[in-house]
Amino acid sequence: MVTVGVLALQGDVAEHLSALEAGGARAVAVRRRAELDGVDALVIPGGESTAMSRLLEALDLAGPLAERLSSGMPAWGTCAGMVLLASQILDGRADQRALAALDITVRRNAFGRQIDSWEEDLRITGVAGGAFHAVFIRAPRVERVGEGVEVLARSGSAPDGPIVAARSSRVLVTSFHPEVGGDHRLHRLFVDMVDEAA
Ligand code: GLN
Repeated sequence: MVTVGVLALQGDVAEHLSALEAGGARAVAVRRRAELDGVDALVIPGGESTAMSRLLEALDLAGPLAERLSSGMPAWGTCAGMVLLASQILDGRADQRALAALDITVRRNAFGRQIDSWEEDLRITGVAGGAFHAVFIRAPRVERVGEGVEVLARSGSAPDGPIVAARSSRVLVTSFHPEVGGDHRLHRLFVDMVDEAA
């Protein structure tokens, strides 16, 4: 069984841990270097990407995390986590670190402020069994995907609507909060990606 960490600096850590367990992984919270060293993969939850970026630096986790990612550790970033994993951040802070695990350009707060949060039923490539009820909270969106990055879902019904989920073989990003609502299909998809990489 693979061990998946959840970066526990901000956000819905407990919900991700239980969804990962339901998806078939051993799940552990990661706050320290030694904990990061012990996981096969990492989920970076939502929260506030500039604050999380600063916390990563303050806890001396930014460097080790960047190293694990560049050596191919699978990762899943949800919302603020997606911003952190991107190769380019639009509307970020000047000192905000892009971990560049996935070749995408992300726009922070692309849909407006907190009040512009919404819920939507999405069709997600690779997630069988009907629509996924997605909760968007001050969500970022993907404005460009590089080679080898597959678009999994778009918001709205237009074929060129905003990209809200994408993946490479090892890295998954979602603009929304998949840990709320008790639907564990995306956690299962990620655990399958980790199994395949192992
Ligand atoms: N827009 C926020 C950021 O830039 C993310 C919001 C969220 O994670 N719910 O970090």
